[in-house]
Amino acid sequence: MAGFNTTAIHAITENENEAIVPPIYLASTFGQPHTGEEGEFEYQRGGNPTRAKAEQAMATIEGASFARVYATGMGASAAAMGMLQAGDTLLMGMPVYGGNYRFGTIELPKRGVKTRFIGDLAQLSDADFDETVKMVFFETPTNPTLRVADIERVAEIAHRHGALVVVDNTFMTPYLQRPLELGADITVQSATKYLGGHGDLLAGVAATNSAELDQELFKAQLISGNVLPPMDSYRLLQNVKTLGIRLDRQQANTEQIVQFLTGHESVARVLTAGSANEAEREIQARQASGIGALFSFQLKEGANMKAFLDALEVFEFAVSLGGIESLICLPATMTQGAYSAEHLEEFGVEENLIRVAVGIENVEDLIADLDRALTAAFSSAA
Ligand SMILES: *Cc1c(COP(=O)(O)O)cnc(C)c1O
Repeated sequence: MAGFNTTAIHAITENENEAIVPPIYLASTFGQPHTGEEGEFEYQRGGNPTRAKAEQAMATIEGASFARVYATGMGASAAAMGMLQAGDTLLMGMPVYGGNYRFGTIELPKRGVKTRFIGDLAQLSDADFDETVKMVFFETPTNPTLRVADIERVAEIAHRHGALVVVDNTFMTPYLQRPLELGADITVQSATKYLGGHGDLLAGVAATNSAELDQELFKAQLISGNVLPPMDSYRLLQNVKTLGIRLDRQQANTEQIVQFLTGHESVARVLTAGSANEAEREIQARQASGIGALFSFQLKEGANMKAFLDALEVFEFAVSLGGIESLICLPATMTQGAYSAEHLEEFGVEENLIRVAVGIENVEDLIADLDRALTAAFSSAA
């Protein structure tokens, strides 16, 4: 089998006029062959040749039988969790991205679906399931605490009870981790992050190997209009071609920055995928290729957070991740701002936790930026 970059670059080859990139079809509707006879495409909400190419590329990259693309990552999450019906229960591995949390705490209750939060999936057992539990939804590593769950083990327990397993694979991407091969039924991703990769595209992907689940994922597009437009579909399938090389660089930069911060006199602790304990380190090493390009850390007591953030010149203080530019944010008030105070505390999203999304800049410049900010954090009174 060809390597990841070759596959990503050549996922779409058969284009009209031997064009090396696919055309963009903007048509809202498509002429039909005859009465009672349907063409391949009928109306853009239901399907469009450019979106179909993006979906084909996403499935190929993930090694999945089917993929669907949505207007945003939350569109993909909503399509998967939207399969639940009144009376069902969802088990949500915590912490999750703030938008997934919102869907579980605000949207699902309106539909008569109960969400139960599981703080540590390593403790998941048969006792967590009754006949109402129809789905387990989680992220690994988690956002922003970088806790790692054993996808194979969660899938085995869930399947024993007839529940679907949905993994939000945004942080790792199919380049570093392939949940479907580990037993997950559906993966969802915010393609706004690594797949798009340039901070200028909102998109989501859901992939599965089940034709039946794919039809449900399609219905979410057709019924609710939750679709990725042709222009954005085109940009997604172009941008994803460089996913492997971008992530290689992002991950290499991350390793060096983590090394710089670990044991630094101004830094209390650094959280990376698998750093929580030896068991998680082992799971991460087994089910993923590396730690990714996202980590969190805390400054020592007495740090002036404002001075730290103000001193940064290369890192932008902003939510999001996965782009070529490095970003820093404070999850408790930003990405996890929707959490109740109790849930922030219960799931370890501490107020002074700093989340870092590493880009592809020259790593010496990123380290120098952090070095300057660390000095500033402790040279002015908090
Ligand atoms: C950003 C993000 C989402 C939501 O994606 P959007 O494209 O912003 O809708 C979902 N899951 C995770 C882990 C994310 O980081």
